[in-house]
Amino acid sequence: MSTLITPHTDKRMAEIVEKVQNGQRLNLEDGVYLYETDDILTLGQLANEANLRKNGKKVYFIENMSLYFTNVCEDRCAFCNFRKDQGEEGSYTLSGEEMIQYVEQHIHPGVREFHIVGGHNNHVPFQYYVDSLKALKEKYPQVTLKAYTAAEIDFFTRISGLSIKEVLTELRNAGLETLTGGGAEILSDQYRKKMHVTKANVDRYLEVHRAAHELGMRTHTTMLYGSVESYEDRINHMLQIRDLQDETNGFMVFIPLSMQPKNRNAGIMRRNSAYEDLKTIAISRLMLDNIDHVKAYFINIGPQLTQVALSFGASDVHGTIVREQISHAAGALTPAGLTRKELIWLVKGAGRIPVERDTFYNEIEVFE
Ligand code: SF4
Repeated sequence: MSTLITPHTDKRMAEIVEKVQNGQRLNLEDGVYLYETDDILTLGQLANEANLRKNGKKVYFIENMSLYFTNVCEDRCAFCNFRKDQGEEGSYTLSGEEMIQYVEQHIHPGVREFHIVGGHNNHVPFQYYVDSLKALKEKYPQVTLKAYTAAEIDFFTRISGLSIKEVLTELRNAGLETLTGGGAEILSDQYRKKMHVTKANVDRYLEVHRAAHELGMRTHTTMLYGSVESYEDRINHMLQIRDLQDETNGFMVFIPLSMQPKNRNAGIMRRNSAYEDLKTIAISRLMLDNIDHVKAYFINIGPQLTQVALSFGASDVHGTIVREQISHAAGALTPAGLTRKELIWLVKGAGRIPVERDTFYNEIEVFE
């Protein structure tokens, strides 16, 4: 019998432990049960074992920088405090040159990835989004462009009249190397209706990633949890990602994003508890047996809880970021970025081995 099963382990949890340890996949009912249980330590240990089998004690980070070309957005997702209307105070749309000026002011020498997302600004043509990438790539050819969410790609198809693959190919010719994971929120059309998420629907989100994978791109994927969705919605979200991964093997990492509480009209009663955040990371690790990494995103859960998450199944702590804006607009209380030194401290402080990586998880330096 597994050493994780003790006289205090209930029957249902014992069944799940045995399933995982025998290499069997968890189903919807298992996932929901793991959210309902208060046996967080068994859950954590099980997820920790699953992660150690995949990644050993290595925990990955990257020197990167987040960039936001525009905050003007035609959509009005209920949880978003970043978006503005065109002409509204605080709205902006930067040209390639203006973005380069911003980068020059804030970049630090080791940055190897630009993480680029923004609003769905229909006051500028698709060519603007292509030229923005081109300008950055010309100026910083050594930096990987991880740009746009699946929802942005879907938006570009609408303003350009091109297909998903045509949009991706044009962007790729301009320097795009991978998509960010945003825009998934909760993959449920009912949730999307409740939260006024009128951008890419569930099928479209998955279709964009499928198309990117078919073009040979490896991408990222997220889940924004902590508002009106049920546990069942969260597990169904993970199962849809797992199914697509079975088909394409194109996702590098799953990123659970803890909802920030500023927009109270979005059904968010309070900040997620640390308990809920740890459970979500551990359950993600167990449900998504075909994705290499689960990320603990310190921007949304804080550096200290990120350390604990490394014993609950997480194997990635994102990167330096420099100046995060979206979660901070929504009320994040965390630092807007961490230095390379601080990330190494964070991982070592959790008893793990920090590994500096590139965007595609190739190892740059291991800090044994
Ligand atoms: S989350 Fe994205 S699509 Fe939704 S309103 Fe905000 S910027 Fe627009």
